[in-house]
Amino acid sequence: MMKIFTIFLLSLLFSSCATNKTTSRSDASAYKHNSAEKKVAAHKKEMVPLIVIDPGHGGFDLGTHSKSYEEKEICLKTAGFLRKHLEKAGYHVIMTRSRDEYLPLKKRAEIANQAKSQVLISIHCNSAKNTNAKGIEIFYTQKTEPWRAKKSKQLAQAVLSSFLAQTGADSRGIKEGNFCVIRETKMPSILIETGFLTNEEERKKLSNDFYLDTVAKSITTGVDNYFKST
Ligand SMILES: [Zn+2]
Repeated sequence: MMKIFTIFLLSLLFSSCATNKTTSRSDASAYKHNSAEKKVAAHKKEMVPLIVIDPGHGGFDLGTHSKSYEEKEICLKTAGFLRKHLEKAGYHVIMTRSRDEYLPLKKRAEIANQAKSQVLISIHCNSAKNTNAKGIEIFYTQKTEPWRAKKSKQLAQAVLSSFLAQTGADSRGIKEGNFCVIRETKMPSILIETGFLTNEEERKKLSNDFYLDTVAKSITTGVDNYFKST
């Protein structure tokens, strides 16, 4: 009798385990289904390029400065306009800094690398002893994998041509530069020198929000053209 009772108990236990197993299997398949949906949604999200904007300098690091105009402030303003235009155009945007704070160069590259952004755009202003020096120049690095150098150059070319067309600025061309922020990143990266703070004409332009907004619009057009062509 005891034996039969034990078998009965065991069979109850087994059937309960089996039921649990069945339930957990169906839970697992529901979970898998949900997780696949989430992955598709995330993938769709990832189809929208993510752009990291890096406003140069910040905090105690003023960058170049001339007659109370500080590069760090102009960079941040331009970056803010750029963010607005890129988001309006449908891009996802991350800024390495969105306020007046110091950020080490390696940290800026790290932010872009961790976010796995599609491109990085670093914004700067230029300076020279010769106050006649003016114009825009865009840097990319060759000290990297060939594909990244090639793509960075393509991005630089696209941005330079829309910048020149929309702002009327002089061109100093596309140059190779070994700057930390564009060298240490893992995606196509450019550093734009938007004009010379040491040149009176360009200083005036760079102190005008309307001009900075135009600069931002022109960079957005360049980024758009780059993504269309790649
Ligand atoms: Zn700078």
